Amino acid sequence: MKISMVSEHASPLAALGGVDAGGQNVHVAALSVALAARGHTVQVYTRRDDPGLPDRVQVQDGLEVVHVTAGPALPLPKDDLLPYMGQLAGGVLADWGTEPPDVVHSHFWMSGLAALEAAGKAPEGVPVVHTFHALGTVKKRHQGCDDTSPPERAWLEPSVGRRADRVLATCSDEVFELKAIGVPGNRISIAPCGVDVSLFAPGGPAEPRGRRYRIAAVGRLVPRKGVDLAIRALALLRDEGLADVELLIVGGSSDSAGLESDPEARRLLALARSLGVADRVLLRGQVPREQMPAVLRSADAVVCAPWYEPFGIVPLEAMACAVPVVAAAVGGLIDTVVHGKTGLHVPPRDPAALAAALSELLQNPRYARRLGAAGRQRASARYSWDRVALDTEKAYQLALGATARPARLQPLGGKAL
Ligand code: UDP
Repeated sequence: MKISMVSEHASPLAALGGVDAGGQNVHVAALSVALAARGHTVQVYTRRDDPGLPDRVQVQDGLEVVHVTAGPALPLPKDDLLPYMGQLAGGVLADWGTEPPDVVHSHFWMSGLAALEAAGKAPEGVPVVHTFHALGTVKKRHQGCDDTSPPERAWLEPSVGRRADRVLATCSDEVFELKAIGVPGNRISIAPCGVDVSLFAPGGPAEPRGRRYRIAAVGRLVPRKGVDLAIRALALLRDEGLADVELLIVGGSSDSAGLESDPEARRLLALARSLGVADRVLLRGQVPREQMPAVLRSADAVVCAPWYEPFGIVPLEAMACAVPVVAAAVGGLIDTVVHGKTGLHVPPRDPAALAAALSELLQNPRYARRLGAAGRQRASARYSWDRVALDTEKAYQLALGATARPARLQPLGGKAL
């Protein structure tokens, strides 16, 4: 198949860990690689955010990233990008020329708008498959007036869900949310995010730690990731007598000046100081992807305590490294982490429950190792990108079937899907 991915803010080539660069970038990059490896031809269209970016970057055989000029060629917060979606659609359509793809797969609601516009203007139409990655209704529910999404999201996002030929939910919880915004159930498929199980593996180096126990929290430094809850849990562990524990926080800016001026980093450090645990909180900043496995392997447990989480790739990465996860039972974490088997679930926004779960793992290393080993098994069996690519292909076929356009190319090996 010839596949177009549209990912307006999340370039597969971007560094991860910044405010707007995380799981979606990983998802688009890894899924595209896996689809190209299966013999498809994939173009990823993303917004040019630097004037020096080349028009096209060939990533590997069958996979290229196309930078489309849509708005100023500068990094812009994703919540400011809506006015440029028409331009993005125009750039995508121009690049298709007389050879539109078999399917266009858009990521995040604004890319959905651009994809639908381009697909609708292509001579024979192109089926649109859409992954939301995050939903405005859920964000608003949890962030209230701190939500910086443009107000138009409230009606444009559901319209993307209703107009797309197929919508991919990344977890079962999202299916309910999608139905609640009016997406018909018979047009929803589940295709989760995946994990690179050869990069994220139990064998291999672990970086040294500074104390007897280490817990790690990894992700974009934004309040909804709940890293403050991990700091509170650390203080509770100390009160309980488990004092020789450090909390490694990964994410945020890549340089120390950026980290010092980051409001969330400052808030976290102030909290750690006020609770008397600043000496055991390590704020690392952004860590390149290749170093992430060694970081995860250095931890006795990885804490994922978001208020809500559309999917959450970090717990899968930890599981793939055989590190047990303590996770808030929200969103995708309900599917990925199996309580008492690959990690422990705790209620959201509950530092006492987090501390109790961590204490259980730190004091029972054999139990922790058992959970870690089962996590590795689950990650490899269910969440490899090859498997996700297969689920995604099935959804493409359903979308193609619904619009009755035959795919031009089958994957290598000639197997009909
Ligand atoms: N990540 C990274 N370096 C960092 C922080 C995060 O490589 O400094 C990666 C992390 O390993 C994961 C992704 O960014 O692959 C975050 O994805 P997740 O789905 O957990 O969160 P999101 O950013 O989508 O909310």
